[in-house]
Amino acid sequence: MAGISLRDIQKTYGSLTVVHKLNLEIRDKEFIVLVGPSGCGKSTTLRMIAGLEEITAGQLYIGDALVNDLESKDRDIAMVFQNYALYPHMTVYKNMAFGLELRKAPRAEIDAKVREAARILDIEHLLNRKPKALSGGQRQRVALGRAMVRNPAVFLLDEPLSNLDAKLRATMRVEISKLHKSLGTTFIYVTHDQVEAMTMADRIVVMKDGFIQQVDTPQNLYDNPCNMFVAGFIGSPQ
Ligand code: ADP
Ligand code: MG
Repeated sequence: MAGISLRDIQKTYGSLTVVHKLNLEIRDKEFIVLVGPSGCGKSTTLRMIAGLEEITAGQLYIGDALVNDLESKDRDIAMVFQNYALYPHMTVYKNMAFGLELRKAPRAEIDAKVREAARILDIEHLLNRKPKALSGGQRQRVALGRAMVRNPAVFLLDEPLSNLDAKLRATMRVEISKLHKSLGTTFIYVTHDQVEAMTMADRIVVMKDGFIQQVDTPQNLYDNPCNMFVAGFIGSPQ
């Protein structure tokens, strides 16, 4: 059970508040998309959920547990970044296995998890390659695989497709949606691309200047935007 509850979450750098009193209930297994223009606080929100950024005020619950002060390694969460951040000197296999090796998981278990993730992501034939010998889409799959082997209750993805060309982005949108269905875990996905938001989300959170504007299903946002900003953002061409 990995519903996530953000209660009056705030982030302040010095005298600048970049996330204001954010309230959001994310359901177990939901695919939630945070969307909004550059600088509106999407990554900061995701990084607070990941435990990579201190929460200035408010409470963050994962399931029933208050996790404000837990280190990122103690949260049942895996994060996938825009720039993949693969280890360049390691093979694909090693990139995926490394996190489990650090936790001293048994060799046979690591091997089974890496091969299962590689099968689902269709990268079995790439396991012996180094990242530099992969295409952008293949690297993104490896980054997803590296998160998958940890079996997290929650996946956080920060603009994972923004470095890919339009055709590959369209393919990966479908792949990530399928992955979400097959894993049955909670996904929190950040993007500034309204097409990604509209096609992938169970619910979309529209943000502007550190405030939530509206939280709703793609259809309801499209049909009943609560203000001009939401209407303009959701309705604008890609
Ligand atoms: P988004 O991901 O929506 O583009 P961010 O969450 O990265 O936005 O940033 C939100 C705001 O917080 C921006 O104005 C950004 O400049 C500011 N910000 C982010 N990180 C820091 C930091 N370490 N120190 C000061 N300001 C920051
Ligand atoms: Mg960002």
